[in-house]
Amino acid sequence: MDNKGETENTGTRNKTRLSPGSTSCDNNLREKKRRSMPKKETGKRRYRCPVSWKRNIAKAKRNCGKEYVSSTGKIVPMREMRAPCESSCRRKCTEKIGHEHRCLMFKKFWEMSSYSRQSAFIGTHVKRIPKKRQVIKENDAASRRTCTLSYTLPLTDNQDVEICKTMFINTLGITDMWVTTALKKVDASEVGTVTPDKRGVHNNRPNKISNDVKMSIKQHRNVPNC
Ligand SMILES: [Zn+2]
Repeated sequence: MDNKGETENTGTRNKTRLSPGSTSCDNNLREKKRRSMPKKETGKRRYRCPVSWKRNIAKAKRNCGKEYVSSTGKIVPMREMRAPCESSCRRKCTEKIGHEHRCLMFKKFWEMSSYSRQSAFIGTHVKRIPKKRQVIKENDAASRRTCTLSYTLPLTDNQDVEICKTMFINTLGITDMWVTTALKKVDASEVGTVTPDKRGVHNNRPNKISNDVKMSIKQHRNVPNC
């Protein structure tokens, strides 16, 4: 083998002038061409696996009432059934619904594991009823509230029992705000509007990678290795 061949094999070909038509030069060109071609997929591509995403794990835990870590790193404790209303409650809820049945209601509610289904349950069991009477005080405008809320829980498959608000939200381990939101969803559905779950849906994404940066990354990946 001549010197030209040796210089290529030792990796110093760029410093050596090769005569036109030589085999080493052809090899050089072929190698350059090969390097400039985009690499084929090698099977190491990562596919999306939303179930394993941290926020989706948190969402699944939240929907079934388990302890989870919020997006800000805060540990949110698991949902728990709270104490019933006072024995002095004028609806006498504790006489209508016992501790075991309350536990069953709590369990069934959180086993739904779906914010939409849970909201639908609330919407079904909290009803607006027109106020029976309206008290108008002196020097005061009429109360803006024209209806009251009736809270019920299923006692059997086809029998509901009316209870007070405290008993309702404490038995399910939910907040007053969730009831308000669920009723708004019912109102919207009655006028034919579907309101999807809007939790976490907003435009405040300070850590989102801008489209310009994404484009520059794509362009960078397409530049051949030299
Ligand atoms: Zn009560």
